[in-house]
Amino acid sequence: MIAPCQQIIHNNSDCIRLLRKNDTPLKKPKPSEWLFHHKEKGQTFEQYTQSKPVKPTASRNKIYLQPIGNFTQTQWKVIQYTAAYLDLFFDRRVTVLPKIKPTMVVPAQRRYSNTASEQLLTTPILDFLEKKIPADGLVIMAITSQDLYPSSNYNFVFGIARTQQRVGVSSLFRYSDSGMDSTNYQKCLVRLIKTSSHEITHMLTVKHCITAVCLMNGSNSLSESDSRPNRLCSVCLHKLQWNLEFNVSARLEKIAAYFQKHKLQTDLSFAEADIRAIEQ
Ligand SMILES: [Zn+2]
Ligand SMILES: [Zn+2]
Repeated sequence: MIAPCQQIIHNNSDCIRLLRKNDTPLKKPKPSEWLFHHKEKGQTFEQYTQSKPVKPTASRNKIYLQPIGNFTQTQWKVIQYTAAYLDLFFDRRVTVLPKIKPTMVVPAQRRYSNTASEQLLTTPILDFLEKKIPADGLVIMAITSQDLYPSSNYNFVFGIARTQQRVGVSSLFRYSDSGMDSTNYQKCLVRLIKTSSHEITHMLTVKHCITAVCLMNGSNSLSESDSRPNRLCSVCLHKLQWNLEFNVSARLEKIAAYFQKHKLQTDLSFAEADIRAIEQ
């Protein structure tokens, strides 16, 4: 394991500044990509801090996950692993609530997609979560194995959040290859940790990143989101660090150890490159 950025030598600001050199600028979007269709304005660090973002307080600081529907044994394990990841990513305690049935989505809000699987409308799930969020909940995110759609204009959605209300939902429907088991769960895990950390970061009022290749880039398709590294660029990391006040190097070390444990080699290589950058 690479030695961490020494707190005595580098404070958080120095670490974030040193991480800039590992940022890759975003190229001009291609017609299949998110930014080609969505003309977003982005958000600087200063705009973020001045936007009165959702922030934890002494009494409202936990992250809740609400599983909805049925899960295979491996999918259930992936949810537990995701909870462990989010704990490190946000440096906050994560609780997985007992699973519930998707009864808040009435028959008229269900439809069948071209995958011949039942899709759930996200609106009633988000409405439900707004009422359900515990008093000490910073955010609550539902996770379902069913496919989701946000409105009749969309074929499907991987995940969606209502940022000011601090609620969101992610689906692992399109992440689980058939035959997923305890030996090959990594592809599903890496997709779910990316979607759920992306959505929860939105709930902390961080907008899509339009300047660097980043976890906070918008995504039009699974291939586009798979092509994005599981890494926050230095600007988005700065926003999260300002909000949550974690120690940059300690967090990075823990995340790298998690990637190593689950054999997520690509993600690990980005984390190790960041650790090397802040060592210097
Ligand atoms: Zn997004
Ligand atoms: Zn970014």
